[in-house]
Parts: sequence; structure tokens; C-alpha cells
Amino acid sequence: MKTCNKCGVEKPYTEFFKDKSRSDGFQTKCKQCDKISIKAYFEKNPDYNKQRGQNNKKYFQEKAKQRHQSKKLSYWIVYMLPNCIPSPYTKPYVGKTNNPSYRMTHHKYKGRDTTGWIELHRFDTDAEALAKEAEYHALGYAGKCEKIGPCRNTGRSKHK
Ligand SMILES: [Zn+2]
Repeated sequence: MKTCNKCGVEKPYTEFFKDKSRSDGFQTKCKQCDKISIKAYFEKNPDYNKQRGQNNKKYFQEKAKQRHQSKKLSYWIVYMLPNCIPSPYTKPYVGKTNNPSYRMTHHKYKGRDTTGWIELHRFDTDAEALAKEAEYHALGYAGKCEKIGPCRNTGRSKHK
């Protein structure tokens, strides 16, 4: 038996949670008192779980960012997603990136089929890759221009 230092009631050890840091291996509060104090804590701190969820999310986002950053290439590529032909296009998606790992993850997140993606061209600069990408879009390949509004590459509202 052990006396709870909160409610002062003597209870069997089964009524105490285990605590390895204590000399007898059990918490000083009984289970019932422990539950009450936890409940009181959450009532006093209603945002605890919310905050913890946000912190976790931020942590994992930052980790993912770091992982992707480390895969950044020293050059730019123009790539094609041969299995991704979003309506109303008849030709596959073409894009450019210097971080295919990140780009493909993002595509998948957006629901695009990235299976069998291929590198079409390799350039030293972003501007060169952008110009090549625009050539593909001008030929009717799908890409950024599927978004509403003028294409950031060609300035045209929609590719034919
Ligand atoms: Zn107690």
C-alpha cells in the first residue's frame, strides 16, 4: 500500500501509475488524482494539442524541405511526365526544375502521375530552361499554363 500525496488516501500499488524515476517505481499521486490533474491542465491549456500539432507539422515540413534542398541540382532540367496529360491537353506535361525530387513530390501531391518522368534537356541556367519549357508549351504540351490566366512563359492565355 502507498499513500497518495494529493488526496492522502492509502491505496494499493495497482492504483498508482508506474514512474521509473521514483525510488519505489510509482508516482506519488494515485491514478485518480493524476487523471484529475491532467484534465485540469487541458482545461487550463485548451490549445495544447493544437499547438503541439502545429509544432509537429512545422517540424516535419522543415525536415522535408531540408531533405529536398539537399537534392538540388547544380543545373536545370526540362522534364516530361509522359503519363500525365491533363485535360484539355493532348500532349504530356512538360516542366522545368533544378530539384526533380521536390518537383515530383509536389506533382504527386497535386494528383499528377509522375511515373516514368524523363529528363528532356539540361541547362546551366533557369532562364535557358524556362525558354525551352515555353517552346514545348507553345507546341501544345501541358504545363503551368493549365492554370487560369496568362501563361507566365508565353503571356498567352491558353495554348492551342
Ligand atoms: Zn490521490
